[in-house]
Amino acid sequence: MKGIEPILENNRKWVDKQRAADPQFFERLADGQKPRYLFIGCSDSRVPASAITGTGPGEMFVHRNIANMVINTDFNLLSVLQYAVEVLGVQDIMVVGHYGCGGVAAAATNKQYGLIDGWLTNIRDVIRVHETEFLRIKDEEQRLRRLVELNVIEQVRNLAKTSIIQNAWKTANPPRLHGLVYDIKEGLLKDLEVEGGLVGELDHIYGTKSNNAHAEKVVEEQVGEDVIEKLPSLQIDQEESKNHKKSEEKKLHKVS
Ligand SMILES: [Zn+2]
Repeated sequence: MKGIEPILENNRKWVDKQRAADPQFFERLADGQKPRYLFIGCSDSRVPASAITGTGPGEMFVHRNIANMVINTDFNLLSVLQYAVEVLGVQDIMVVGHYGCGGVAAAATNKQYGLIDGWLTNIRDVIRVHETEFLRIKDEEQRLRRLVELNVIEQVRNLAKTSIIQNAWKTANPPRLHGLVYDIKEGLLKDLEVEGGLVGELDHIYGTKSNNAHAEKVVEEQVGEDVIEKLPSLQIDQEESKNHKKSEEKKLHKVS
């Protein structure tokens, strides 16, 4: 058999098998879908979404791209996400990375690959954010395995940054976010348990709530107190800050 003939042959066999086991199988599916899960995974042929999760037709909405990325300007991903959350009402959304990911490995090099370079930049951003941890791992395979995990964690964060998820969190039954890594060598899925803390961690920057107390703390720790007056988001605290400085100056005068 040549070309797609094996695919068509397999399809006919599959239909016969499904009908034999459940005569109403296709009629029922034709009525509509109400999947519980949204799977965002890599396009890699070794990571078949349904097979590794034991889900059948109608149980999981699937989006795949190179290196399971959640990019906030990707209308393909955003359309899938919005439909899955707001129309289908999925309950669990999982970003599924996999060890041995070619996209992640390519991003960890200094080579150019053509059109895909723009896409890989998003994984290189993950390296930049976690550079200290990344460079500390001397073994190259271990370093790439960790990068796969860090990439999944950042993509779950990217989900949390979307207004789609933030609005869903305000509803009575919001979807849960999960970060998983699939080990091709063993066939096992590992839960990275990344959901905790995502809301509080990101809301003051990506959400609709400001958090001046947090911002002031970050500036003091990382930049120095002088910059505070220049930050527009901290204007409310400016007077307080000036008064605080004046009282500090007075104290100094008294001492001298
Ligand atoms: Zn991959």
